[in-house]
Formats: sequence, structure tokens, C-alpha cells
Amino acid sequence: MKNTLTIALSKGRILDETLPLLEKANIVPAEDIKKSRKLIFDTNHDNVKLVILRATDVPTYVEHGVADFGIAGKDVLMESSTKNLYELVDLNISKCRLMTAGVIGAELPNRRLKVASKFVKTAKSYFAEQGIQADVVKLYGAMELAPIMGLADLIVDIVDTGNTLKANGLEARDLIANISTRLVVNKAAYKTKYQQIEPILEMLRDAANKV
Ligand code: AMP
Repeated sequence: MKNTLTIALSKGRILDETLPLLEKANIVPAEDIKKSRKLIFDTNHDNVKLVILRATDVPTYVEHGVADFGIAGKDVLMESSTKNLYELVDLNISKCRLMTAGVIGAELPNRRLKVASKFVKTAKSYFAEQGIQADVVKLYGAMELAPIMGLADLIVDIVDTGNTLKANGLEARDLIANISTRLVVNKAAYKTKYQQIEPILEMLRDAANKV
């Protein structure tokens, strides 16, 4: 019996684009993930399992080696403080931008900025690099409300089409990073399970190159 390889997938928007990519790589879940409430799935490969996680938990599972591979957005990887993993492949899916945004036309105040974001660590290091004094408060959702309600001068958030910002009277300002979904692997597993990991890695790399 071969050792099982576990791939941790991020649920939500990324999952919609990950499943077709896995299929291109000939990794097919044994049942329809979207129609099931299960969190662990067998696949068409005896030794490959999929687990479905909240995106921010993917790096943690891979860091602890309970998942060998993880599929997560660069935004999540930048924000996580995990070190025990290699980012091996840019899967070229779920592309978007991490940006600052503020009320349309509003000038920034001449004092320490108030910033609201889900990406506190990334936001702090961005403003520090820019030499801009900023206090960053953590929010878990509906970031767009913060500038409207006066909680923040700017938000740091993911922008795709920009429609969500526009619908709330906000505009994107500065680009912090271009984001796409990445394949990460546990460093120790990469060495000890290399023979098993390599073929899966190649299949995913080929599939990503076809996107
Ligand atoms: P949009 O209105 O198209 O600019 O989409 C912005 C909203 O969708 C934001 O609230 C984001 O959190 C979310 N979003 C867009 N693209 C992604 C992505 N690739 N990964 C995660 N969230 C995303």
C-alpha cells in the first residue's frame, strides 16, 4: 500500500477554478465536491485524497504536514506566517489584484492613516515599505463599508473587476500585489515523498501551463 498524498483545496471562489484544473491534470474526485457536505474526498488515484478547507487554513495544514500539497491564493500565502512550505507552481487561476482603495475622489488626511483590512500583516508591511504611517484594523468581511462609515481612510482588499468597489462609492488606488493561485508543498514531504510527489506535481504543472 502506497503512502497517501493529500491535497488541501481552498473552498469558495478558488475551488470553482481548481476543480477544472485538477480534472485537466487527471485528478478527479470520486464524487461531486460541490454537491457534498463532506470535507475529505477520494479520487481516481488510489493514493491521492482531497481535503476542502477554508482558504486561510490551507497553509497551516501544509505546514504541519497533514496535507502534502496545498492550493491557495497568493494573498493568503502572503498573509500567513508559515515557513515550512515551498511555493512550487503558479497555477494561473483566480487572478486578481491586492490593492488599496478609498472613497472616490477623497483626499487622504494629513495624519496617520487609518486602514481596514482582512490582510493586516500584508497591509502593515506595505505601508511601512512606502514610509507611510498607518494603523491597520482587522476586519473579517464587508471591507467596503469601512471608509463609508468613517472607520478607515483606506482599505486593502482584493479587486477583480472593481465592481464591488464602484457599487459602494469606492475606487482602487495603489497596486500592492498581483495575485493568483499557487501550489505549495510541505518541505519535509517534498524530500521524503519525492517519488510520489513528482508525478502529481508534473501533472499539475502541465495543466497550469494550459490555462
Ligand atoms: P470585483 O467586484 O470583481 O472587483 O470582486 C471583488 C470581490 O470579490 C472582493 O470582495 C474579493 O474579496 C472577491 N474576489 C475577487 N477575486 C477573488 C479571488 N481571486 N480570490 C478571492 N476573492 C476574490
